[in-house]
Amino acid sequence: MPIQEVLLPIASSQKEAPPETTQWSPANPYLFKSGRHQGKCAEVMMFSALGYWRLAYILKMMDQGIEKGGGRMNDAHRHLRWLMGRGENLNPHLQCRYCQKKVSIFSAIGDSRFGYSISAIYTACRECHRRLADEEIGHSVSFYPIKFSSILKFRARADQDLVAKLIRDTCCTRSRMTSERAFEFFLNQCRP
Ligand SMILES: [Zn+2]
Repeated sequence: MPIQEVLLPIASSQKEAPPETTQWSPANPYLFKSGRHQGKCAEVMMFSALGYWRLAYILKMMDQGIEKGGGRMNDAHRHLRWLMGRGENLNPHLQCRYCQKKVSIFSAIGDSRFGYSISAIYTACRECHRRLADEEIGHSVSFYPIKFSSILKFRARADQDLVAKLIRDTCCTRSRMTSERAFEFFLNQCRP
């Protein structure tokens, strides 16, 4: 299956290939027009652990295709790279429980065998995050930045799902995630 052709823009308004710079932004969300994800929106898929995992895999395959065969990024590749990059620069609105700054770190309490406690409750800003461990004496606590790639730091799907939910709870409003809302989120609410 030609992986570069899996993702196609919803609107066919982008006739000119945009320059390959970090300033580039897409005009529309992306819908899969074929393949196993047909009809799904890449921006919405980011918010589920399985969807994020699949997008990361597709981007890896696209990157490897360029590395091996040369050539230039197509629109799908460029869009997916933009999307994954934005997912690394989130802007949580939840306030740190200790100092009222915005949270940026979450703690995972537990282990890979029995699962972790991961939720918006266990979040803090960069300066205060170690205080989360003080409240869990006797438990193993690890810390991660609030960003999408932290989903893949956990092996169990249940734990990955908790990280995806934590991102929604700390960064998004409670309204249902449509393709337009998800696109707007990555376009305007993530730091470039
Ligand atoms: Zn703080």
